[in-house]
Order: sequence, then structure tokens, then C-alpha cells
Amino acid sequence: MRTPGVKLEPVEGGHFLFLCPGCRESHIVRVRSEGSGHGWTWNGDVVKPTFSPSILLTGLETVRDEKGRWTGEWVKDAAGQPVPLVCHSFITDGRIQFLGDCTHALAGQTVDLPDWSDDE
Ligand SMILES: [Zn+2]
Repeated sequence: MRTPGVKLEPVEGGHFLFLCPGCRESHIVRVRSEGSGHGWTWNGDVVKPTFSPSILLTGLETVRDEKGRWTGEWVKDAAGQPVPLVCHSFITDGRIQFLGDCTHALAGQTVDLPDWSDDE
């Protein structure tokens, strides 16, 4: 049983996973450790997390099955080329603001981060 409202799943190295409602998959945030200049700052809250600076992911669109799992295939355009994917967001107080350069449907919108679930 998980605590309701928790948005982050801790992983090795003091980093966290969150469920991205735009990509419908988890993304990792590498939280800055003491004395290191690398990674994101985090407000220490797993229910209303704030990370800084923005989180930018680039890659290729993946083909998903009906359960949202990657089939191992890439989405191809009419010319047979893989389709680029951009996911660019700010996470503030448990909400995720997608910037206009996202390639998914939530570009330009701000929504609540979904609670973490192992099922997704
Ligand atoms: Zn995303």
C-alpha cells in the first residue's frame, strides 16, 4: 500500500522517478547531492515536489501497447523516419507545466502530477 498523494519514487543514487502525464511514462530527475554542482535542486517534498531548473527530455517517439508498455518499436513518419520526441517541463508544488516545445498533447498546459503507481 502506497501513501496517497506521493508523486515521486526514490531510486538508487538519491534520484527520483515521476510519472509524466504527457509521455505516459516515468522520467528520472537526478537530484543534486551535497557539494556537487550537477543535477536538479529539490524542495524535499514527495507530495508537492518542486524541481529546478526545467526538465528537458529529447528522444524518439516509442510505440506503446494497450497497457502503455514500449513494444521496442519506434513511431515512424510517412517517410519511414523516427519521429522526434521533446518533453520540456517545470515541476512546481506537485504540478507540471509543459512548455510549448513539447511534442505531446499536453504542450503549453499545466496539470497535476499523477500519484506514483507501480502499475504504469
Ligand atoms: Zn514527458
